[in-house]
Amino acid sequence: MSSLSDIGTIKDVMQRHGFSFSKGLGQNFLVNPSVCPRMAELGGANERAGVLEIGPGIGVLTAELARRARRVVAVELDERLLPVLNETLAAFSNVTIIHGDALKLDLAAVIREHFADCERVAVCANLPYYITSPIIMTLLESHLPITSITVMVQKEAADRICAAVGSRESGALTVAIHYYAAPRMLFRVSPGSFMPPPKVTSAVIRMELLPEPPYDVGDEKVFFATVKAGFSQRRKTLANSLTSGGFLTREQAAEALANAGIAPNTRIEALNMEKLAALSRAVVAITGK
Ligand code: SAM
Repeated sequence: MSSLSDIGTIKDVMQRHGFSFSKGLGQNFLVNPSVCPRMAELGGANERAGVLEIGPGIGVLTAELARRARRVVAVELDERLLPVLNETLAAFSNVTIIHGDALKLDLAAVIREHFADCERVAVCANLPYYITSPIIMTLLESHLPITSITVMVQKEAADRICAAVGSRESGALTVAIHYYAAPRMLFRVSPGSFMPPPKVTSAVIRMELLPEPPYDVGDEKVFFATVKAGFSQRRKTLANSLTSGGFLTREQAAEALANAGIAPNTRIEALNMEKLAALSRAVVAITGK
């Protein structure tokens, strides 16, 4: 099979299988030949690693991962791509394709079943952009035995994820990701690198999972609820945003902020991880939640 990033090859495969792109499934396939080898290298695909891919498309990144990794499991939702992948990845004995929705699949069971002989497991994927945040959060919150997540996302999402917590660019997603992992921007990818080209620039980021969350937040549920309440009205002061949606009463908010050593007119976007953790512990102490 000639290169899967070659436009002629892609058109030929698509035509023979009667395949047409689904916009709804975020199908923008990579046609820039330099991107997938780089992603596979930086994503940690090597002979000791198992790699979980989400959304293989016609297999352009899958093939680069399979050349380097011990084993690759790729989860694809679009049933029409299964016969295509059977053909394009026929040369690789270390690849398993699973038909399913990455958001609904029991990924812990998939890892147990397929990667038992791998020293470590990494996730590497060109994500369908319509589910960027839910996929990343599912991977992080499920406490999967994975060491890193290397993904292509919209550049705006990459900027948000990699922003410093406590900066104006940060958001609830920034905080959630920094709680579980250390994110890093790797490289940008232009719309012309895809077929069909998306409207936006993309970027590849890598999130190194932290062995243990390094902050004592008292209670994870309260921590994420506090962050959610704060960012739901990020331009308001914490004295106001923490009472939004009935999360805390005015008195509770004032007491929690005082106990955490945070001025009531501070906005959530100004708090770093240590301050957010202190606020969460104060909310736990006051509400007993
Ligand atoms: N990896 C290929 C590439 O780089 O050319 C395709 C990437 S394309 C941006 C996203 C892929 O994810 C598509 O193949 C799409 O069908 C698949 N997909 C969309 N939603 C999915 C889901 N919930 N679970 C698994 N795969 C999904």
